Amino acid sequence: MEEKEGKVAIVTGGSRGIGRAISQELAGVGYHVFVNYKSNRAAAEETLESIRRAGGDGEAVAFDVTMGEETISAVNEMHARFNRIDVLVNNAGITADGLFALMPEKDWDSVITTALKGFYNVTKPVLGKMLRKKRGAIVSLSSLAGLIGNRGQANYSAAKAGLISASRAVAREVARLGVRVNVVAPGLIETEMIAKAPVATIKEMIPMARIGEPEEVARVVRFLCSEDASYITGEVVSVNGGMY
Ligand code: NDP
Repeated sequence: MEEKEGKVAIVTGGSRGIGRAISQELAGVGYHVFVNYKSNRAAAEETLESIRRAGGDGEAVAFDVTMGEETISAVNEMHARFNRIDVLVNNAGITADGLFALMPEKDWDSVITTALKGFYNVTKPVLGKMLRKKRGAIVSLSSLAGLIGNRGQANYSAAKAGLISASRAVAREVARLGVRVNVVAPGLIETEMIAKAPVATIKEMIPMARIGEPEEVARVVRFLCSEDASYITGEVVSVNGGMY
């Protein structure tokens, strides 16, 4: 645990849901966690309070991952605080579900932009700093949808599959330069994102017959960020109760 003392992590969309659990998990093993959010400051503050209550440390940072300039400035400011970024978790994501035949262009664009432009906007400046130190771990949140293609989620499935391929490509590019790049693909996890999902029907399809908890995803992210995962890169880890 001491090994992570003084280390710095950025968690995009770290204010709620899975991102909150990841922020708590990383803070719990000693990372100073930059908890990113887009608009809900109260949720980010709540996350930070829980982190501090547990003896951890961090701060809330607002930026919209789809906005290039805004994101680069935020990354530079976060980096300047400690002159290091050890871990990046690309967790921010949205859904805008609907059958493809009826899908408005804005729903296609917003979901893909948040996932993939977001990946580009945040990962590129962070990676530059990690490469200079020849050290770092990046984990991005994909989804079961990105592996199988969910009905009613063509936009989300494309976005999440894109994250997998982008991560694998970058992983190959930087593997010998000390930076590991991995992906976690959750199934159905109890957060606000699934509020409108037909949970009862989906539960029938889950071999473990239950929805996952954000902490069950967060622990895998923490592992992939840790030295215990020192020989793992370009990997996709499913956390889905046996669904796929
Ligand atoms: P939530 O909807 O609960 O939380 C989303 C988080 O992302 C919030 O912190 C939100 O901040 C932030 N966010 C959204 N858009 C932006 C943006 N443009 N810039 C910065 N932050 C943004 O999502 P979950 O916790 O459920 O999901 C987290 C990740 O896990 C997502 O990538 C999701 O696709 C993935 N996932 C989730 C599953 C599930 O079943 N819940 C299953 C598989 C994958 P704010 O509140 O300020 O807008």
